[in-house]
Amino acid sequence: MTENQSIVEVENLYFSHPGQERPVLRGITLSLQHGEIVLMTGPSGSGKSTLLTIVGGLRHARTGRVRVLGEDLVGSPATTLLKVRRQSGYIFQHHNLLESLTAVQNICLTLELDGSLDEETRQAMARKMLDSVGLSAHYDKHPHQLSGGQRQRVSIARALVGRPHLILADEPTASLDKKSGQECVELLKNLAQEQNTTILLVTHDYRILDMATRVVYMEDGVLQAEKPQ
Ligand code: ADP
Ligand code: MG
Repeated sequence: MTENQSIVEVENLYFSHPGQERPVLRGITLSLQHGEIVLMTGPSGSGKSTLLTIVGGLRHARTGRVRVLGEDLVGSPATTLLKVRRQSGYIFQHHNLLESLTAVQNICLTLELDGSLDEETRQAMARKMLDSVGLSAHYDKHPHQLSGGQRQRVSIARALVGRPHLILADEPTASLDKKSGQECVELLKNLAQEQNTTILLVTHDYRILDMATRVVYMEDGVLQAEKPQ
């Protein structure tokens, strides 16, 4: 990866879910440059999550061009998708933390994918990341012992701990109240800027649109640069 390479390059992407005839993504073109924060809005069911999962290497597309972090994903072997998954951070609407693990352990789990780090290093990195999202007092808490906003901050820490080049966030503030939603997004933005990470974030939250370098709009599987008037 060099600084001036596109982080994400999607061209003429069509996608149908298995067993469905009508494509949910119809000719998507999207390009994300290094360090950009791009927000995606659009009605429910329009294909935003589907696009995110394809870009994140969680789903395989067969038609069009999807280049992420220098890898071509269409027609690629599963190992290429795995490589992209490991180099990106995913944040979901619901925190997706494991209930049986503490905050530190949840974050360490992500780092275990990188076999080169020993347990002590992983724990130190997890604690440092929790410090930077303001959770120094909560290392050993389980998800149910944390508030919604705190859980989402653990998710942010988990997504960023491996210093990914790309963060994909799918409605990360949707289940939070206004204040914690704003705090989470502010944190995410600041940390991503520190790490020079690119963000693609799906949201219906108009209060956070001004954090974006750009806003794109999805409607019925078609992505547009702006919301049509
Ligand atoms: P959004 O995130 O914009 O709400 P989605 O990408 O989740 O939209 O869904 C787009 C369309 O694809 C919807 O009609 C949805 O019902 C359908 N869909 C989503 N996931 C699946 C799936 N795993 N199998 C079949 N259809 C799906
Ligand atoms: Mg969705």
